[in-house]
Amino acid sequence: PLLRVAIMGLGGYGTRVAEAMQACKKAKLVGVISGTPSKVTAWRAKYNIPEKNCYNYDNFDKIKDNPDIDAVYVITPNALHHDQVIRVAQAGKHVICEKPMALNAKEGEEMVAACKKANVHLLVGYRMHFEPHTLEIIRMRKAGEFGQILFFQGLSGFAIGDPTQWRLNKQLAGGGSLMDIGIYSINGSRYMTGEDPVWVTAEETKTDPQKFKEGVDETIQFQLGFPSGAVASCLSTYSMNNLDRFFLNGTRGYAELFPATNYGPIQGRTHKGEINQPVVTHQTVQMEEMAGIILEGKQPVVPVNGEEAVKDLKIIDAIYLATQTGKKVPVNLV
Ligand code: NAD
Repeated sequence: PLLRVAIMGLGGYGTRVAEAMQACKKAKLVGVISGTPSKVTAWRAKYNIPEKNCYNYDNFDKIKDNPDIDAVYVITPNALHHDQVIRVAQAGKHVICEKPMALNAKEGEEMVAACKKANVHLLVGYRMHFEPHTLEIIRMRKAGEFGQILFFQGLSGFAIGDPTQWRLNKQLAGGGSLMDIGIYSINGSRYMTGEDPVWVTAEETKTDPQKFKEGVDETIQFQLGFPSGAVASCLSTYSMNNLDRFFLNGTRGYAELFPATNYGPIQGRTHKGEINQPVVTHQTVQMEEMAGIILEGKQPVVPVNGEEAVKDLKIIDAIYLATQTGKKVPVNLV
């Protein structure tokens, strides 16, 4: 079986996914949804895409009548995901959506409900959930090799460039670094510890209010508390490079990933030594595994569905609330 995929949003990451999918056996790029006719022409030639599988943002509801497309991968600016995912679901196609799945938990829950109602899968581009070094640490943690987990540290950031890009526009991004890159530490805190947090505290700092306008966070430090008593300490920022490191500490050992979430090669070590796992193209493995989930009912080690994404959005909501109130905010993910 083959998952026939149309990509919506032919930008930087859409291009990366398209290239990576060329190496997939179970997933194939067969269509595009774009507002830019010149890109459609270029992609048609490069990937041998038939004209009947090409849509724009006005007419893509018609994908409903196209039996040659199984799924749409939404890779547009964050604020557009909610409406686009719901329209794809209503057209009866499976949806893969980039992170952050939506701007807040309420939007996320509406997307989950729409996909459930349409009886289609909703998967989110959590590529680290399929990454071998990451999975080896999860395996070791489940086997008890770190003992009782006590602490996670997540550092996620990069120095962002062009001030006019959509990532620095509250309307399109929904926030700042936390939505875009801090989400890796949020999500990572959960798959590294194996627990969901029950409270958060957070502090926001801004060195450049010209570049990082109202509602666009430059730097947020946040702390998470887990039911076992384990705690996490994380930093999300748009103003530092080389900030991509996870550290997990338990009563019997530790794990470190550095880099932890960039396109790789991911590198890591534990108290037992270097983690030796294959270096993979994340997007190739992700699409291969997602095809397995949709077509064969495969169960990933760490979920990548809409419900999983809503958990991260609830944590994001709580972190933003904590930065505003200065108070400890309870989180309920069950
Ligand atoms: P990008 O700016 O490179 O591409 C965005 C695309 O959306 C462009 O082709 C643009 O033309 C199109 N678009 C459609 N409607 C638009 C509108 N109204 N305004 C602006 N652009 C519009 O961005 P990107 O880096 O490809 O990010 C897209 C999504 O992918 C984001 O949600 C981002 O968080 C996610 N992403 C995920 C990863 C990952 O590793 N999983 C990496 C990068 C980006």
